[in-house]
Amino acid sequence: MEELAFQNITTDLLTDPFFEEKNIEVSVLRLDKIHPVISGNKWFKLKFYLEEAVQKNKRTIATFGGAWSNHIVATAAACKMNGLKSVGIIRGEEPQELSQTLKDAKEYGMELFFLNRRDYKKKKVPDTILNEECYLIPEGGYGKKGAEGASTILNYCNKDHFTHICCAIGTGTMMAGLVNASSEDQEVTGISVLKNNFELEEKIHSLLNRDSRFCLDHTYHFGGYAKYNQELIRFINEWYHLHHIPSDFVYSGKLFFAVRDLIANEYFPSGSKILIIHCGGLQGNRSLAKGLLIF
Ligand SMILES: *Cc1c(COP(=O)(O)O)cnc(C)c1O
Repeated sequence: MEELAFQNITTDLLTDPFFEEKNIEVSVLRLDKIHPVISGNKWFKLKFYLEEAVQKNKRTIATFGGAWSNHIVATAAACKMNGLKSVGIIRGEEPQELSQTLKDAKEYGMELFFLNRRDYKKKKVPDTILNEECYLIPEGGYGKKGAEGASTILNYCNKDHFTHICCAIGTGTMMAGLVNASSEDQEVTGISVLKNNFELEEKIHSLLNRDSRFCLDHTYHFGGYAKYNQELIRFINEWYHLHHIPSDFVYSGKLFFAVRDLIANEYFPSGSKILIIHCGGLQGNRSLAKGLLIF
């Protein structure tokens, strides 16, 4: 199994006449370069959960996710690296053929349990899994320990240089970590990739160490979680062409699109220095038809 390469993380300053014209500096923190499958923030979010599991002598980690979940495959890999057993509780009936993501998870030694959508919604853990040896991690790593891990992400860049930090949001765990790690005069803006997920604000607030301000944008979901259209695909290809940075259609593609659009709409004041957190997620692109993306 390929090692995690934290030394590969870079902060790439983008050269783009459009940003220059607006007098905005844009950099990307490349957490996508840590590993081809274990995407950026997932490892960070898992770190302290796994430490606690080991401390408590739990031998098995169980968690939840969908068929293309970055969190599921990252958990499988992280458990393998730490000599722990892993169980994935997967949304929906067992398919005839597993997704590439679930095949990878299985290869990393994860045992898969399929849960119908109704039970999944209630996060009903099958009795066969729940035992004394089992440590349960919430879906997407949501929780204080996840946020605590995510707050170490900014140690991989010169964080004081930036006026704005932008990230994509699923559960909001990473965003909470970033807000906790940022200073009062930095603005953290999160782009929600779910449609109308207005519980987010409360969910993020409950993970904060202090009463900090942050911004949420709900307008760049492209129809909802993992939904996309031609405009998004065209943009992802164009962004790759311009900046040589690959992105995924569930999170980072929508994030880059949003930041560019917000700059066009003069959301950021002239002179802003923006840091975009690229969390990878590229493995999820394997669910798209071949040839749609140019990388
Ligand atoms: C999981 C993920 C996110 C969102 O992280 P949350 O902490 O759940 O908000 C963003 N980008 C990518 C690529 C991800 O895999």
